[in-house]
Amino acid sequence: MTRCLSNVSVRTEGYDSLTVPVHRATTIRYPNAKEFADRFDRGPDDYVYGLYGTPTHRYLEQKITDLEGGVRTVLAPSGQAAITSIMLHLLRVGERVLLPDTVYGPVRDFADHELVALGISVAYYDPTDLRALQDDLDKGARLIWLESPGSITMEMQDFPAIVALARAAGALVGCDNSWAGPLNFRPLDHGADVVVEALSKNISGHSDVLMGSVTVRDDTLGVSLKAFMGRMGINACADDCVMVMRGIETLAVRLLQASRSAIEIANWLEQRSEVKRVLHPELASDPGHQIWKRDFKGSAGVFGFELTAAASEKLFEALDSLEIISIGASWGGTKSLLAPSSLTGLRTATVWRGSEFVLRLSVGMEATPDLIQDLSRFLDALRSTPEPVHAVSTCVEDAMKD
Ligand SMILES: *Cc1c(COP(=O)(O)O)cnc(C)c1O
Repeated sequence: MTRCLSNVSVRTEGYDSLTVPVHRATTIRYPNAKEFADRFDRGPDDYVYGLYGTPTHRYLEQKITDLEGGVRTVLAPSGQAAITSIMLHLLRVGERVLLPDTVYGPVRDFADHELVALGISVAYYDPTDLRALQDDLDKGARLIWLESPGSITMEMQDFPAIVALARAAGALVGCDNSWAGPLNFRPLDHGADVVVEALSKNISGHSDVLMGSVTVRDDTLGVSLKAFMGRMGINACADDCVMVMRGIETLAVRLLQASRSAIEIANWLEQRSEVKRVLHPELASDPGHQIWKRDFKGSAGVFGFELTAAASEKLFEALDSLEIISIGASWGGTKSLLAPSSLTGLRTATVWRGSEFVLRLSVGMEATPDLIQDLSRFLDALRSTPEPVHAVSTCVEDAMKD
């Protein structure tokens, strides 16, 4: 029996793998009791226990750090966990955090319930109104959060202007950069202290991983955040890290394909009579277009559109006519998704004057003409009137004759 459990020794020299090997969270063996006793002196980059990361985690952390232009990255088991971890680490009782009114919905839920319960003051700001933001900053803030373009309604934020106001007010700047990602925008280069990516979206890119990252530009914060994650017992799965690494290798080509396809579809949607407005900062008609053009190198494949009031009446039935595009949340994968997204309860500092539902379309890797055909089917179904009753009976009679 014992023989089944003893480690054998194999040669690893000469095995320089082209891909990242999976080192699962395991126990580290120490050569002697003295080194074991001294293990916590090893520093944040050495290996102590699986919870604090394996070479596979380090590889992905380093890759993301390089892409973001930061000094350290910590991984979390979801984008949401990455955001909540950095906020919990930075904010203390009595302090104030400013969130854009367009913040990712679950972050609003977290802030309103968990941060408020901890005695942290939560305020929402209009992401496009710098004057109002200045007034808000004058009341004091430990952290200002940005997310540009905003979730669902896609408002662009004037990043450099907001960073300048935050600096003057002594607030830290954090940014959810999941839409642009590090290939199209690098918040740390523009003065942010913290950048978060929902790796579950474009970066892993195949709708089969949940993970998030926090990258910082100051290693004092990086080391203390890493210690925080360890104390909280938060880590990512090594098998998933390899999935994210695989996604990163094709990120640039997937983004190019998805964003080109998305803008073609956005332009096509703008011409359709059932569509009231398309929300995509790459469109010249979009209010955030100048900021997008100035700050971003490209786009993601996800954007929104609104239907006219008349077309909205049969929204849910018409969605059933989609054959290629699936109905579902999330975005940034290879398969296209459409989510009718309600803004009820998700805006408090601004008033949403648009439709009840914004249709969020995540464009995948399918051929663009096929996606346009699928969306045509959907838009046509919004207009079609139900068959009169006698026509149905005629159909049945006709069928019975055959
Ligand atoms: C999806 C999303 C997140 C959260 O990512 P999960 O990994 O799904 O928790 C955060 N921010 C934005 C903008 C997102 O779209």
